[in-house]
Amino acid sequence: MAACRARRELRAYHFGTAFLPSGWANDVLIEVGDDGMIATVSPNRPQGAAERVAGIALPGMPNLHCHAFQKGMAGLAERRGPVGDSFWTWREVMYRFLSALTPDDVEAIAAYAYIEMLEAGFTTVGEFHYLHHDPAGRPYADIGEMAARIAAASSATGIGLTLLPSLYTYGGFGGAAPNSGQIRFINPTDRFVTLMERSRAIVAKLPGAAIGIAPHSLRAVSTDQLREAAAIFAEGPVHIHAAEQTKEVDDCVASLGARPVQWLLDEMGLDRRWCLIHATHMTEDETARLASSGAVAGLCPLTEGSLGDGIFNGETYLAAHGAFGIGTDSNIQIDAPAELRQLEYSQRLKARARNVMTTTEGESTGRSLYTRALAGGSQALGQSIGVLAPGYRADIAVLDDNHPDLAGASGDMVLDVMVFSAGRGLIRTVIASGKPVVLDGRHHAREAITKKYRDTVSRLANA
Ligand code: ZN
Repeated sequence: MAACRARRELRAYHFGTAFLPSGWANDVLIEVGDDGMIATVSPNRPQGAAERVAGIALPGMPNLHCHAFQKGMAGLAERRGPVGDSFWTWREVMYRFLSALTPDDVEAIAAYAYIEMLEAGFTTVGEFHYLHHDPAGRPYADIGEMAARIAAASSATGIGLTLLPSLYTYGGFGGAAPNSGQIRFINPTDRFVTLMERSRAIVAKLPGAAIGIAPHSLRAVSTDQLREAAAIFAEGPVHIHAAEQTKEVDDCVASLGARPVQWLLDEMGLDRRWCLIHATHMTEDETARLASSGAVAGLCPLTEGSLGDGIFNGETYLAAHGAFGIGTDSNIQIDAPAELRQLEYSQRLKARARNVMTTTEGESTGRSLYTRALAGGSQALGQSIGVLAPGYRADIAVLDDNHPDLAGASGDMVLDVMVFSAGRGLIRTVIASGKPVVLDGRHHAREAITKKYRDTVSRLANA
């Protein structure tokens, strides 16, 4: 009887072509339970009573690193300043932008960023969330007010969420006091524990959501605090920014006597729970050790390019079988294929070679990038996602097989066309947690969410 009831609640989709763990398959029937998880995947099956979804089905891409509010900064930091524009001058613009944001503003901007992500092929977001308090640095009456707004944006759009509340206590290495731009981020450890309890309750009400912790960086927490936080929160993902900038590496050596990735490897026992965001500046030894630790390198190639961070040590890392995923970070551009393209192109420019982010002769670079980013992103977000197989969430990006760029393409070449030529414009339908949220390239709530976003950013610009 129970089995009969479960059968009736399944929703079935039929795809002409789908990318399964075993490879490309035709006439694929995918049944989804009312929990949004895939129940069955059957190739070579007739459509029957299933809904036909035209196109080529891929697992949706996890976006492992995002600060949603930064989406509202489009165009704000592209004018030359008096001297030496850098990550650090960009950060000043970012601090000014966030200083006035209300919870309503954050929700409106996050919702817009999340529909852009869904339309661009991302079906789960890791929100590295550090904008906690009011503009004076006081906790809101509900300490999780801002976390609740992120959850509301996820719920309104249908994107899966791994919420990563950030522990941020100091303004810089050596326990420096926060500056005025940082006061909205600051929590001592005990208040962070309270914030995590509240955030856990918020996330528990949200289907398709998980929680982890995000010690912001080695400059924003003390080493004792980092050890304490990793021990208190002994399960779930741990994300930390590391080695994004050479100044950060120099300051870390001066303060802790080791480079950031080296220090984390030596002192924290990195494993599969950990995701090091950026990991841009690593020695060959750090690169090989990070790869064999089981941790994920959280690469944000478009943002790293935008900020002038540097180039990841991709060739060595891949040769050592290192796991990586991709993140949109500052959201300067939201586009999963473009992140992968930028990753490969930065490696090509560095190595003065082609097809760098693959290790096997004859392997498609698009497939290598896409499948590795699916695996690394899913691991980093601590959810059963990124695979079209039973037991995984039914998050599916469907490509337009009538697109002219796909004329004559089949198999892995489809991924090469998507990553290197057609980009996110190929994505036609997106199913998140088993429900279609993007049809004909457009999110179902785009109109209302865009209006709120436009009103919010216009008001902020004129304030
Ligand atoms: Zn970041």
